[in-house]
Amino acid sequence: MTSPARVAAVTGANKGIGLAIVRNLALQYPKSPLHSGPFLIYLTARSAERGAEAVQALNDDAQLKQAKVLARDGGNTTITFRELDISRTESIQDFSAFLKQQHPNGLDIVINNAGIALQGFDAKVVQETLKTNYYGTLEATQDLLPLLKNGGRLVNVSSMAGQLNKYSEEIRNAFLQASKTDVAAVTTLMEKFHAAVAEGKEKEAGFPSAAYAVSKAGETAYTKVIAMEEAKRNRGVLINACCPGYVKTDMTKGGGAKTPDQGAQTPVMLALHDIGGRTGGFWQSEREIEWMVTTALTKPFRWFYKEFGLVSIHETGRNAYLIILARACRMFAYGTTSLILALFFAELQFSDFRIGLFMTLTLLGDVLLGLLLTLIADRFGRRKILFFGSFLMVLSGAAFAIFENFWVLLAAAVVGVVSATGGDFGPFRAIEESVLAQLTGREARADVLAWYVTLSTVGSAGGSEASGRIVNALLEREGWTLVDVYLALFWLFTVMGFVNAALVLLLTEACELPRAEAEYAQVAQDERGSVELDEHNRGGVVQPSLNSLPSSQERDATNPWWRKLTSSFSAISPPTRSVMYKLWTLLAIDSIADGMVPYSLTNYYIDHTFHPSVAFLGDITSAAYFLGAISAVFAGPLARKIGLIHTMVFTHIPSSAAVLVFGLPTNLVMVVMLLLVRAGLNNMDQAPRSAFIAAVVQPEERTAVMGITNLLRTLAAMTGPSVTGVLAGSNKFWVAFFVAGSFRLAYDVGLWGMFRNLEVDRDEGALLAQHGRLEDEETHELDRRPAPLSLASDDFVDDSVSSKK
Ligand code: NDP
Repeated sequence: MTSPARVAAVTGANKGIGLAIVRNLALQYPKSPLHSGPFLIYLTARSAERGAEAVQALNDDAQLKQAKVLARDGGNTTITFRELDISRTESIQDFSAFLKQQHPNGLDIVINNAGIALQGFDAKVVQETLKTNYYGTLEATQDLLPLLKNGGRLVNVSSMAGQLNKYSEEIRNAFLQASKTDVAAVTTLMEKFHAAVAEGKEKEAGFPSAAYAVSKAGETAYTKVIAMEEAKRNRGVLINACCPGYVKTDMTKGGGAKTPDQGAQTPVMLALHDIGGRTGGFWQSEREIEWMVTTALTKPFRWFYKEFGLVSIHETGRNAYLIILARACRMFAYGTTSLILALFFAELQFSDFRIGLFMTLTLLGDVLLGLLLTLIADRFGRRKILFFGSFLMVLSGAAFAIFENFWVLLAAAVVGVVSATGGDFGPFRAIEESVLAQLTGREARADVLAWYVTLSTVGSAGGSEASGRIVNALLEREGWTLVDVYLALFWLFTVMGFVNAALVLLLTEACELPRAEAEYAQVAQDERGSVELDEHNRGGVVQPSLNSLPSSQERDATNPWWRKLTSSFSAISPPTRSVMYKLWTLLAIDSIADGMVPYSLTNYYIDHTFHPSVAFLGDITSAAYFLGAISAVFAGPLARKIGLIHTMVFTHIPSSAAVLVFGLPTNLVMVVMLLLVRAGLNNMDQAPRSAFIAAVVQPEERTAVMGITNLLRTLAAMTGPSVTGVLAGSNKFWVAFFVAGSFRLAYDVGLWGMFRNLEVDRDEGALLAQHGRLEDEETHELDRRPAPLSLASDDFVDDSVSSKK
């Protein structure tokens, strides 16, 4: 290799986050501000064998190959192994002497990632932990820092476990003071901790019984000191500490909300990208955060933050915020217009027949367009499809605001995205759920999806409420007709379409199906022309050689459009289908029931039977929606405690029972209570259901499976009202409730009976693939490995981690 323009060294890089850091340095270097020629990365490890294997794995890595970033593939990055054990002084000195000799001009990047989390807690464990995490990293920092060029970067991978909320006031202040004084002051605190543990008095001394946490607090503290001292040298070297988040690695025994690649993002950003010259900071999720967390005041907030899964959204990061916000805005838009569509048409003097035709065709158009776009989303790019959907929303909104011709409006509604019923049809939901499932691990998924459901309900309710208020406010203005007011609401819908599009544009590449999985999915169906997959292949034992196969672009160019579309469906593997057929049947039964007694018909029944005031009915409906939104937030925490299927079943049963007996009471109070029970618990199965589907299907199948699920539910729900209509006409409304309630209970019992023993605690849908077919589920005893232990030990008290225990 010609003399490298840039040189980086990463410690403990043979696996886990360290390996992902090297991989992401290589991937992101070409587009980073540092890019200026050949880049040499030293992947260091304490074992020569494991280090060499790691380099080999990266050289063979499909994503690196495809990106052509490595010199061997025509790029300008070279990854090379060097032995380094940070717990041995001579090893650090050897490495530093080697670097000095090889790179007299200096290094650009040092990332101290190596670390350990040991089982148990005693003075010996403390000593071992400090030796690597505290003293080893400190020595590596002090020896390698002088080798950094001007403008170089040094990153210490510390942990949230090192935040200062678990210490006595005195020790907390001592840490804060030491981090502004010198390294010796920090080391004194470590010695004090070690001595206190040896005497069994660490609690009295103001420390937690947690070797890992204290070692990381020390690491963060001296990183700040060293950054402060370095800043005085005016070399422009930036030194920061960070937490990668709660990451699935050997250290967390496979638990964790993030993949190693996601965990690598913050350290890599601090090493390669523009961080505005900041130094001496503590970072997480690509943001600088407080190292010091005050306890007393923030305790209730922190409890809420952890228990209600906000921590999961926070750790999933920007894409989760954007998707949840986009859906809330969209549901707001649907909420504003769905109530007025029929009224708008009536105002334009369209016949009832035309209004009915419009409603039916719009729903059908939305559902079919939604399915079509969903099936192609993974292939064409999820963000592109979401953007296209937003564009259709804008077009439809603008068409409604400008034209008054029935056929133009019908075309705009059928081809575009308008919600005639307030439901979330179109391509969005399945893609968004699939993205959220991909971005989250097992632990975080139900939490994030629960907030996705809750805020969408809030958006929808906000839209309906806003619509009523806007109509009233504008009508009071001079010269405004009802039609003018409705047109204004359609412009609001259009603006929301723009907002949706803008939020989609901010989504990152992480939302797309990873290339390897996309390629893999295509190989499965394109090459073999069949849905049958080799079990070994699916189990990851034998991987197809991607080199020998045509690229996705080549295949796309030769495949007809219909083949591309149907391939998404046919690529759903037999094991997934065998589970989904059962689930789809159950969901169809549940949806027919929901369709038989939707809230609109329920309101009609209450009105018809008890004649309450319109305002009272409105208040009850709002309260029911409100309860539904609130209760959905509890689905995440509950699923963490009792599991996905139990959460789905046991929250749904009371709601179903309320439907079953809804037609019986003869007084309004009882009926209202039943309505609140039904609505209050109704939404709690949504997030666990999506999390369950995400867990039992392959990642590359999720979008299509979720799209089909939504389609089936909608179509099943559409059959319901006609049945109820017949019964209502003959004054047999109670029969409709009874049948719907029975259907719902059948769904609950069926779900429990079929899936309660299905192990979904394993990650990433690999579960079913590893077991091949599940047709005869009863005879195939599923792998009953215990759920991943949350941690190496109680000692590893990372905040994000401990919340998951
Ligand atoms: P892993 O256990 O998967 O990897 C740790 C790496 O450090 C391994 O390569 C290991 O090498 C190496 N290592 C350990 N001791 C030494 C040593 N003395 N000299 C050189 N290398 C050593 O852990 P993660 O990838 O999860 O953790 C990476 C860093 O991220 C750690 O500093 C950890 O504290 C931090 N972190 C991780 C979190 C998580 O959720 N995973 C959360 C917060 C922080 P070997 O294979 O030889 O053992």
